[in-house]
Formats: sequence, structure tokens, C-alpha cells
Amino acid sequence: MTNSPKLNLMRTILNWTDSKMKHRKRLPNHYERVYILKSALQVMAAESERMPGLETGGVLVGFVDSSLKAAVVTAVSGPGPKAEHGPYTFNRDRAFCQAFLDEHAAHTGGVVDFVGEWHKHREMDPLPSLVDISTYRKLAANPDCHLDLPLVFITGMEVLSKSPPIERFVRAKAFVFRRDGFVSRCLMTLPDEAYVDLSLSRPAYSSNVPFSSPSR
Ligand SMILES: [Zn+2]
Repeated sequence: MTNSPKLNLMRTILNWTDSKMKHRKRLPNHYERVYILKSALQVMAAESERMPGLETGGVLVGFVDSSLKAAVVTAVSGPGPKAEHGPYTFNRDRAFCQAFLDEHAAHTGGVVDFVGEWHKHREMDPLPSLVDISTYRKLAANPDCHLDLPLVFITGMEVLSKSPPIERFVRAKAFVFRRDGFVSRCLMTLPDEAYVDLSLSRPAYSSNVPFSSPSR
């Protein structure tokens, strides 16, 4: 006996719903809090101002807390000498950024690792573009990347002059991506002194830093 078209349609819908629910269950929760060390924020600001009229960016290194509710960015890279910069496009120097990640991972005994990327928008209050959204949702879905929740920081700039181009750093905004979308998070700055011992693989926590221990 063959199934009626109606029954087949019902089965298809049930299977689809089931797969969607499983899909949802597997996704981790977005980080609730996102921190950056002051020196790392200063690097993003300086790199953004160094390229007036053009987009730029780099990679983020850091760690997440054991409950996966918070992420701490400890260092950010520049774009690298072979990066391509356009008014609305940017491609980082992949070899340069990989070497930056490797160096930081080695210096901290693997405590810090790749946690996301940053780039600049030439607008005061930046939001991810459609291209950004598509790119970072794909990154979150890519099993080779081993990053379920890529962090994306976007620096916002005030254009002080178009010719010659002069721009001033205004703010950096944090977005936590998953393969199904993203959320915006307040980017909070931490003093570098809280992590002075990272180079010795022993993060030093001051009493006002709300973490027990980093985990990978
Ligand atoms: Zn963008």
C-alpha cells in the first residue's frame, strides 16, 4: 500500500519540525557578558584611526569562562601588511593573523585562543551589515572553525574630514553570533592589571573580576 500524498506531506512537516527542535537544542547560549582589556581596545581604536577612509580590522584572542556565559578578549591584532582595504570592504592578511594567534596561544600555554574578529565601519553607531551577518553565521556553523559563538567587534568612527580623510574612534560594539543569528552585547573594559600573569599561563584575577577560572 502506498501512502497518500496528504500523509506524506504530514510526515515531511513532522520531520522538519523535529529537526528544527533538535537543531535549537544543540545551540549554546549567547555570552551574557563580553569584556576587553583596555590595551586591546586601544589597539582597535588606533588601528581604526590609522586607516582613514578605509575599512580595517583583525582577529580577537581571549578566553571564555567555564559556564560559557562570558568572554574576555585579551588582545587584538592589526590587519597585517598584506591586508586589502577598501572604503566598504576589508580582507585581513591571513598569514599575519594566524601568526598572531599562534604566538598568543603559545605565550599563554594555550589559555587564550581565537575567539572572533573585529573590523571598522565608517559610521558612528555601527551594526553588522547583511554581508557581516551572512559571513559570521557561516563561521559559527563551520565545524572546522571550532567556534560556536564567534565574537564580532565593530568600531564606529566619526568622519572629521573627507579630504584629506580624518576619522576619530567613537566606540566599539560587541556582537555574539550563532549560526541562527546574533545578539548585541555591551562591551565592558577591564584593566590590564587583572591579567598581567597571562604570559605565565596563570591569569591573575583581581577581586573585582567576576570569574573563577578560565577554561577552554
Ligand atoms: Zn561590517
